[in-house]
Amino acid sequence: MTSRRVLVTGGNRGIGEAIARRLVADGHRVVVTSRSGDPVEGLDVVACEITDTASVDAAFTAAKEKLEGDVEVLVANAGITKDTLLMRMTDEEFSSVVDTNLHGTFRCVRRAATPMVKARFGRVILLSSVVGLYGSPGQTNYAASKSGLIGIARSMTRELGARGITANVVAPGFIETDMTAELPDKTKAEYQAAIPARRYGQADEVAAAISFLASDEASYISGAVIPVDGGLGMGH
Ligand code: NDP
Repeated sequence: MTSRRVLVTGGNRGIGEAIARRLVADGHRVVVTSRSGDPVEGLDVVACEITDTASVDAAFTAAKEKLEGDVEVLVANAGITKDTLLMRMTDEEFSSVVDTNLHGTFRCVRRAATPMVKARFGRVILLSSVVGLYGSPGQTNYAASKSGLIGIARSMTRELGARGITANVVAPGFIETDMTAELPDKTKAEYQAAIPARRYGQADEVAAAISFLASDEASYISGAVIPVDGGLGMGH
């Protein structure tokens, strides 16, 4: 395998941390971001606030120094939820989720693209959600932000595919992390009943799909949406 220089946003905990640890185990050189930049055992961390263009720029510059070269594989994983029913959702609840999940990802892929074009190589992997295609009550903001990522990946594929760059989306279902721990028990039980696998997923199972997309073997896959959801979103 080819060892790549990788940046994982939001790689200090949850799914992002599992992705980072898996890619390190695969033999890649990995830097993760968190908002604080606080140390994480066994991982190289840089601070990044993805709602701030200057912070994204500084994080890529810091990552380049740590990796001794430009980022070749970007895993845009950082994201938030602010769930509430449509009729109660404030402008702030909508726009802050879109600004983080969609615009924040845009800031990262835009910053990553120029060095990738120069290198004629790049792998961009965006963390969407089953909810982006399936919809979810109480998650209008989140679903809108996550379906928008598919538009980014597919437009990048058409715009930059000839430069050796692939852009794909991974759409996890219900994965056990801090984000899902805060859901009401009733919602969790309803999800579990609807999942054909009849269980929640683990962050490592998402990381396995990312490991493949970052590998040499995935060179001809681009513009794809890969579900890791126990069958929940089947057909969407
Ligand atoms: P967590 O809530 O456990 O972690 C979220 C991560 O995003 C943290 O590292 C956090 O950094 C970072 N982050 C949040 N806001 C910002 C910001 N403004 N700037 C920079 N970093 C930010 O989430 P998960 O691990 O559960 O989810 C990871 C991704 O997977 C998300 O995009 C989520 O939408 C998606 N996903 C999750 C599913 C699940 O079931 N858990 C299902 C489908 C998709 P910090 O620690 O500094 O706050």
